[in-house]
Amino acid sequence: MRLSQYPIATLKETPAEAEIESQRLMLRAGLIRRLAAGLYTWMPIGMRTLTKVMNIVREEMNRAGAFELLMPAVQPAELWQETGRWDKFGPLMLRLKDRHQRDFLIGPTHEEVITDIARRELKSYRQLPVNFYQVQTKFRDEIRPRFGVMRAREFIMKDAYSFHMDEKSLREDGYLVMREAYTRMFQRMKLEFRAVQADSGAIGGNRSEEFQVLAASGEDAIAVSDGDDYAANIETAIALPPGAKVAPGTVPGVIDEDELTMLRGTPPAPPREELRKIPTPGLRTIEDLVKALSIPIEKTVKTLVYEGVDGLVAFLVRGDHQLNEVKAGKLPQVKTPLRPATPDAVRMAFGAGFGSLGPLFADERTVRGITFIADHTVASMSDFAVGANEDDFHFTGVNWGRDLPAPEHVADIRNVVEGDPSPTGKGKLRIVRGIEVGHIFQLGQLYSQAMNATVLDESGKSVVPYMGCYGIGVTRIVAAAIEQNHDERGIIWPEPIAPFHVVLIPMNAHKSYRVREIADRLYAEWTAAGIEVLYDDRDARPGVKFADAELLGIPHRVVVGERGIDAGKLEYRHRRDTESQDFPLEGALEFIRSRMGR
Ligand code: ATP
Ligand code: MG
Repeated sequence: MRLSQYPIATLKETPAEAEIESQRLMLRAGLIRRLAAGLYTWMPIGMRTLTKVMNIVREEMNRAGAFELLMPAVQPAELWQETGRWDKFGPLMLRLKDRHQRDFLIGPTHEEVITDIARRELKSYRQLPVNFYQVQTKFRDEIRPRFGVMRAREFIMKDAYSFHMDEKSLREDGYLVMREAYTRMFQRMKLEFRAVQADSGAIGGNRSEEFQVLAASGEDAIAVSDGDDYAANIETAIALPPGAKVAPGTVPGVIDEDELTMLRGTPPAPPREELRKIPTPGLRTIEDLVKALSIPIEKTVKTLVYEGVDGLVAFLVRGDHQLNEVKAGKLPQVKTPLRPATPDAVRMAFGAGFGSLGPLFADERTVRGITFIADHTVASMSDFAVGANEDDFHFTGVNWGRDLPAPEHVADIRNVVEGDPSPTGKGKLRIVRGIEVGHIFQLGQLYSQAMNATVLDESGKSVVPYMGCYGIGVTRIVAAAIEQNHDERGIIWPEPIAPFHVVLIPMNAHKSYRVREIADRLYAEWTAAGIEVLYDDRDARPGVKFADAELLGIPHRVVVGERGIDAGKLEYRHRRDTESQDFPLEGALEFIRSRMGR
């Protein structure tokens, strides 16, 4: 491609709207342009990378035996009413009416449409297992579209849906095959990633894993074990009760949930302190309290109150820990979705406001309408401090069994922290950050059941098929790749998704016939050999060309100059190199090929 004819505009200035590096670089390098919040145009150079990402995704989906189709972006409300998601999906879904005032939506995902296809097209066990996929535009009216195409409102997803006769086939012919395909895709794109256990969110279903590209700017926190390959989104990462022993898992990362709920932590140490009620005027946060009383934060407990199915639910979490709303929200005692209790309701039940709450009441009043649920860590504590349920007072030296009965409800309700033992029984957890680029689910019969999809088995009996679904954020991958591969001068593309392989820069070609002639020849020769060359034939100063080449992140740079030609040499530099090197003009194509590993 001759740059003089290529519609590309790089920007020197950082656009004010940019919040993270990939967004800044995508705008500066002219890959994307913003239309409105969360809506972006892919410009030609950005489109080249996006196409390469799509090609890799398609190749691996096809290799895995999936079939490509294309479903409409606009979907009728009736389908979503069948599964109950028309009401449940909430404001993330963009709804619209047609000219006859009929309800439609712009698809945030396609489980309903594909299940409708399945119930019409799939009749017999002979047609299963089958996996359909599409590469298609989704719309989600994100509450906070940000970071450019990373969290857009309109974005391209590869979504696949598989259908199976039984759970075993779902796991083996669907889920694990897709897991393998995803692993190959991200390896081919040369991204550093992890498959992590995940929450199933609004899509529903049982087991799911996310593919996370590791990057400091990632929105997700991930717990990874240093002892085996356990990795989980912090939303679901399991915090073992203190001192609990689990047998190292035979399948790393897979833990029996029932077994886990049976685990108990070590009992609290015997009391050493007296129970004391102390005035704590104006101390609202745990930090304030710890400073004023000079007690370790590990000796404090905070009380967080939510709406329960029967009155209020108060979660007890150690002062330095964080309540995990995903885990807490799954407990049978709470309302779904999880909602904090109002200040009025809290005052009515506890007799005090936020900041002075606790499980222990000074007088003999029995607590009515409050269900306390203690985190495992809290259940193992002794001599701790909590709010006294009286404004501006706290208790210290609180002990289970002495000052109040041992907690009736104990559960894993906190976020894991760095250094926690891995729930597989091997190693310790580290917390890293990631960008979710893919998500695979075993849905089971959720949608097929709701929409009455059935097929006949070998004996002619009608059975409800098992489903899996598998998403990839195609547009998000481009941003994630940049987040992981850039420096202060620009993008550093992994070669398989670079918009061009080589940038060819003639120095002062307008003044030198020889330079222009050789550069023209190399461009023609390399292009004919299947190398994608961006030929910077503009009448621009070398400094401008170098800066643009670095911003655009083309992996290989070749410079043609008068002095080099005299010595029969060209100049080469990889985008990751700090220094250039000369190489002979003779056999230049072989040299470039060897650099490209071809
Ligand atoms: P997130 O947790 O980031 O909101 P999600 O879990 O809702 O994503 P899925 O329903 O699993 O997303 O969608 C599959 C993939 O689509 C995600 O793994 C992600 O890569 C991509 N994706 C989801 N939402 C967006 C968005 N707003 N912009 C760009 N890509 C997105
Ligand atoms: Mg997801």
